[in-house]
Amino acid sequence: VPGGRAGLDVGGTKCLGVVLGADGGVVREARVPTPRGSDALVAALAGLAEELRPWDTLGLGIAGRVTLGGEVPASPNLRGVRDAPVRALLEAALGVPVPTANDATCATLAEWRMGAARGAGDVVLVTLGTGIGGGFVVGGRLVLGRHGFAGEVGHMVVDPDGIPCVCGRRGCWERYASGAGIAVQARVAAEAGRLDVVVGLAGGDPEAVRGEHVHAAARDGDPEALAVLDGFAWWVALGLANLVNVTDPEVVVVGGGLGTAADLFLEPVRRHLREWLYSPDERYLPAVVAAGLGEQAGAIGAALLAAEPAALPSDPGNERQLA
Ligand SMILES: [Zn+2]
Repeated sequence: VPGGRAGLDVGGTKCLGVVLGADGGVVREARVPTPRGSDALVAALAGLAEELRPWDTLGLGIAGRVTLGGEVPASPNLRGVRDAPVRALLEAALGVPVPTANDATCATLAEWRMGAARGAGDVVLVTLGTGIGGGFVVGGRLVLGRHGFAGEVGHMVVDPDGIPCVCGRRGCWERYASGAGIAVQARVAAEAGRLDVVVGLAGGDPEAVRGEHVHAAARDGDPEALAVLDGFAWWVALGLANLVNVTDPEVVVVGGGLGTAADLFLEPVRRHLREWLYSPDERYLPAVVAAGLGEQAGAIGAALLAAEPAALPSDPGNERQLA
């Protein structure tokens, strides 16, 4: 009896697991908090996989950099995990192969095969959350890069003299176009004496303003909140235009935690995208759409890795010397 395909998605705060049925729909889900350190992480993932049984195949997505061999060199999202062969340790614990990739790469695979980009041959996906993750399908193939590190769009520099980034450089796109970015832009406006409605929602403290407060005020039509969202959409569009200029996709999928507010900012993103695109009047414009699979996208994509042999080379080559 087929047990289905299972996928695990490791994020900074939780590990989410799903099992897909024969039609690709999620038939079971389980989650555990993400523990600190690689041994505890592998034990938690093995426990999650056991809880999800029965399944036939298992795949794994991990937030941050992951080599083609499933090693995590270091991840700002995973505390105490460094130079950890997570894939090999989990395979040893479970006795099955566990194809492994970056979680945004997994989300891209999921949205491409089963979600908002289904049927497209060329796709750009961005996940707007605490930071920005990304993934690409080019010419009908999921792009991993030579070592597994493709798609780090959040650290595209969009302002060399800009805001310092956790990566040690300045002006990375995710400082402006992520959930953290929208909160910074809102606090700057609030401290300048604007955004009265938003500050009210934050309990009267400009320092406490977060993205959710901006979304809530914008939903009620507050013009100052809508102006902050428009400024945020301008930054999102700037980065997306660079990605569209490079890869000429058919569909741009916007997901991640901010994807739930997509109805508020996708229209301004589409408008600003035209401003930033090279030759917007003499080219095909991609559809810009909200992700369809929500927070399960990474785990669903991890489950699909096992059926995507072309996506994961069996010989990861010289990854080790560069890891
Ligand atoms: Zn950076």
